[in-house]
Amino acid sequence: MAQLSDRVRALMQPHLASIEPYDPNFTPCRVNLSANENTYPMPAAARASIDAALAATPLNRYPDPMSNELRAEIAAWHGVNPSWVCVGNGGDELLYNFLLAFGGAGRTLLNCPPCFSEYAFFASLAQTKVLDVWRDAETFELDRAAVLEAAPKCDIAIVTSPNNPTGDLASVEFVREMCAACPGLVMVDEAYGEFADAASSCEQLLSECDNLVVLHTLSKAFGMAGTRVGYVIAAPDVIDAFAAIRQIYSVNVLSQAAALAAVRARDQFAPVVDAIRSERARVIESLHGIAACGLPLEVWESEANFVLVRVPNATRVRERMRDEKSILVRDFSYAPGLADCLRITVGTPEENDEVLAALAALLKEEI
Ligand code: PMP
Repeated sequence: MAQLSDRVRALMQPHLASIEPYDPNFTPCRVNLSANENTYPMPAAARASIDAALAATPLNRYPDPMSNELRAEIAAWHGVNPSWVCVGNGGDELLYNFLLAFGGAGRTLLNCPPCFSEYAFFASLAQTKVLDVWRDAETFELDRAAVLEAAPKCDIAIVTSPNNPTGDLASVEFVREMCAACPGLVMVDEAYGEFADAASSCEQLLSECDNLVVLHTLSKAFGMAGTRVGYVIAAPDVIDAFAAIRQIYSVNVLSQAAALAAVRARDQFAPVVDAIRSERARVIESLHGIAACGLPLEVWESEANFVLVRVPNATRVRERMRDEKSILVRDFSYAPGLADCLRITVGTPEENDEVLAALAALLKEEI
C-alpha cells in the first residue's frame, strides 16, 4: 500500500501526521498460520444452522443497532443481564470505541507491550497518550510492580490475557489489583480466552470491580474472523457509554444472524477448541524437541492459539518458509522487544506438521 502523500498529510489532523496506511501483508499461501485465525473446518451442524440463518435474513432493513437478540444470547451464555453486553464489529471496533469514549486528549492509556499493536494505534487516533510498562525482556512476564505503580497516573488501562503475541495470562488476582489501582476503566482483552482454562477468565471479577471491561471475539474460538463480531461485558453504565458513541449500524444483519446461530450452537465448537489446545501442547513439545537437537530456537509457553518462537534471522526464515514452502507465519522482528520472533498460529495437525518440518529444515540450513 502506498505511503500518504505530503499533500494529504498536510490536510489531515495534526495528531495523525505520522500515520501510514496499514498493510496486513496478506500473501496467498498454501498454509496460512499468520493471523491467529481458526483453521479448523467449522462443525457441520453449526455451519448448517448459520447458513439457514443467513438464508432467512432480509437484506433490505437496517440492522438492529444493539444486536439485541445476539446480545441476549451472549448474556445468557455468560450469566449476566443483557444490559452488561455490547456487541461490536469485531473486537477491534470495541477497542477503538473504548479509546474514543474513555481516552482522548489529555488522557493516558496504560499499555503493557509487547502486546497487540492496535491498542497504541487506536490511542493515537483518539489523541490518547500511551504509558508503556514493558514486559520482562526475556520471559515477557508482566512487570506487576511497575504496572501497579503506573496505574494511578493513568486514565485507562488495557491488559491482554492471554497476551498476543507472547501467549501468557494476566492473573485474576493481578487484574483485581489493577482495577483497584487505576482511577478509570481497566479492559482485559480476552480475545483468546477460550483457549485458556476457564478459571483464568477475569469475568469473575465483574461483580466486584465496576471499572472492569472484558473483551471477547468470535474471531478465534468460533473461527468467524470474517464476520467481524466481538463483544464487551461490563457494568451497565459503562455499556451505555459504548452504546452512546458507537456507529449505530456497525454490526450488519448477516453478521448478527451468523453470530446468533453460532452462539446458540456454542457447545458444538468445544471439540475444536479442545483440538487446538492439544495441538498447541504438541507443537510446543515438538519445538522443544527441535531445540534439544541443537538447533537455535527458543519457544515460550502459550495459553492461546499461537506460539511465539525466537530463531536467528527470523525475517529470512519467515521469507524462505513463504517462498519455498508456501507457509505463512508472522514475523515480529520489526516490533520493539520482539527481535527475531515469529508467531505461529496453531493449525490443524497436518498444518502443524508442515510448519514444524519446514522450520527444522530451514534452521538446519541456516546454521
Ligand atoms: N485483541 C487481540 C489481542 C487480538 O489479537 C485481536 C485480533 N487479532 C483482537 C483483539 C481483535 O479481534 P477481532 O477484531 O477479529 O475481533
